[in-house]
Amino acid sequence: MKAENLTGLAATEIIALAEKYIIKTYARLPLVLVRGQGVRVWDAAGKEYLDFVAGLAVNSLGHCHPRVVAAIREQAGVLMHCSNLYYSVPQTALAERLVRRTPFDRVFFCNSGAEAVEAALKLARKYAKKKWGAQRFEIVAAVNSFHGRTYGAITATGQPKYHQGFEPLVPGFRYVPFNEVAALDEAVNETTAAVLLEPVQGEGGIYPAAPEFLQAARRITRERGALLIFDEIQCGLGRTGRFLAQEHYGVTADLTCLAKALGGGFPIGALLATGEAASGFGPGDHAATFGGNPLAAAAALAAVTALVEEGLVENAAAVGAYFKERLEELGARTGLIREVRGLGLMLGAVVTVEAKAAVAACQERGLLVNAVKDDTLRFVPPLNITRQDADAAVGILEEALRAVS
Ligand SMILES: *Cc1c(COP(=O)(O)O)cnc(C)c1O
Repeated sequence: MKAENLTGLAATEIIALAEKYIIKTYARLPLVLVRGQGVRVWDAAGKEYLDFVAGLAVNSLGHCHPRVVAAIREQAGVLMHCSNLYYSVPQTALAERLVRRTPFDRVFFCNSGAEAVEAALKLARKYAKKKWGAQRFEIVAAVNSFHGRTYGAITATGQPKYHQGFEPLVPGFRYVPFNEVAALDEAVNETTAAVLLEPVQGEGGIYPAAPEFLQAARRITRERGALLIFDEIQCGLGRTGRFLAQEHYGVTADLTCLAKALGGGFPIGALLATGEAASGFGPGDHAATFGGNPLAAAAALAAVTALVEEGLVENAAAVGAYFKERLEELGARTGLIREVRGLGLMLGAVVTVEAKAAVAACQERGLLVNAVKDDTLRFVPPLNITRQDADAAVGILEEALRAVS
């Protein structure tokens, strides 16, 4: 087998080469995806799938959205990259767009979710030390959270399985059970720089925060001089049926992390900050060589514009509510789904079969979904799906669940 030009190779040969040459950090499914359009993707043999994984909540506009494709094509031929030593038009336009659409005043651009979390953690500590002194550095995060795979982000992640073998972790973190107000109240004190929470826990299994928990987090952090950071990397940008998930709760954080869907499939992350919180960083305090480069920023500007102008936030709310009802109906009728959790088009279904077996059975029948826990399937489809797409997915899911039950 020749590795230089893989055109015409069968899926099994591509998989064999990938297994030989790529470090084994992923337990991949035996599927080679070659093309995507809207909510559909095709494998190397030409088989079509409804994609309810959508790049793990990245492809919120569907695959190859024409506005994003056009923006990337055009910007690639104009100015792909320039250093953050200089200003660029797409980055400035994207920052303005994000600030206008949210309660935040300033943006820092990076390349991924973990990098947005790192930026938030560093900014929170710098801000706290400037304002309150060296003793204030602690970060309070939630049990069962997920914040990414870099050192600060895994430390913030309140799940031991992501820590094992990587110790020593970053000092100065503590964890409180999600949705337990009393525990949060006890954990936040004059040493706390920030509280970091996902408004809807994603990788942890799709658990929306209780309104009183986020409201208490806002009150407690404000009273005690700590910053509130929301990680909206998965739940933000329309996914839950609001532009930011925090809008459901009537709570505004000091800092909000975005990534995943921001670039319409192109890698980019962002940290949104209030003017006050942003004052924690000055020139030289943080940087990213590629952060918000013209190509990434042009893709994200097109993606955010499409998201808003094409009414996808509203569609996520409407079709999400419909899809949730259909899943609940399937569960009530068959007993194969025990619970459906989530908001908008960020849904988790607790199934009575092994979730991994259900994922494989769905894939066989042309539906991509993902198992977020041993008994929980996650659905994060593009936000422009129709009720018919949701019906088609529920139809395949029913067949698949029956087949493995
Ligand atoms: C995916 C995710 C991250 C990490 O993003 P990467 O781009 O993989 O670094 C962080 N937080 C949440 C909530 C996520 O869903």
